[in-house]
Amino acid sequence: MPVVFAGHGSPMNAIEDNRFHFAWRQLGERLPRPKAILCISAHWVTRGARITGSGHPSTIHDFFGFPQALSDVEYPAPGDPKLARRVEELLGGHKVAHIDATRGLDHGAWGVLRAIYPNADVPVVQLGIDASQPGPHHYAFAKSLAPLRDEGVLVLGSGNIVHNLALWDWRNPKPLDWAQRFDASVKRRIAQREHIELADWPRMGEDARLSIPTPEHYLPLLYVLALQRDGDTVSFFNEDVTGAIAMTSVVLDPAGPMRLAA
Ligand code: ZN
Repeated sequence: MPVVFAGHGSPMNAIEDNRFHFAWRQLGERLPRPKAILCISAHWVTRGARITGSGHPSTIHDFFGFPQALSDVEYPAPGDPKLARRVEELLGGHKVAHIDATRGLDHGAWGVLRAIYPNADVPVVQLGIDASQPGPHHYAFAKSLAPLRDEGVLVLGSGNIVHNLALWDWRNPKPLDWAQRFDASVKRRIAQREHIELADWPRMGEDARLSIPTPEHYLPLLYVLALQRDGDTVSFFNEDVTGAIAMTSVVLDPAGPMRLAA
């Protein structure tokens, strides 16, 4: 299976018929159909590793100040308790990762998935992001998930390479210099497979500090890069920096380049 990092940006991208949403829809049409999805979303930050284990995860509306239409969205994809146990096993057993039988899907997961798989007919499991661990830990941890690609599981990271809402001015969508520079620098490093540098982003200087004020939106990218294999082609889509948000998204695909419209 390919591996995907999706920049998700505003929760409204889940329901707006915009170019980001359109590219997600195209992605769903082009990807080989997975047996299940393992999603690592910026919006489930945990202490220790947590995995959703419910057979019928609820749709969590974890945002405020958005139109009712967004809160009305339900994404009734089934869970996959068997995959949850498989992920637990790969990550080192229950001493390392715990299955949470009640947690649902957050908007970082369903916001993107309702465009990719609108019929909600592919089972979804989420892996939480252990906020107590640094980037190199996450990168190494994610490598344990490598067999999932051969087992028909689509690993989907959902976050943003640049995400600084404090420096976001809604009236001025012009990309900020440092955001554009950091996005370009991360893309260059992804293309050159400089994963060690990307995992240790605090060493990447001031642009990284401004682009990643908190790590949860950036870390899902490391889970995707950790699963890269020699035969994968790297494709970018939704290459857009607006204000202090980068929507830049990545597909690693053994079948070759994936060209999406946006
Ligand atoms: Zn987000």
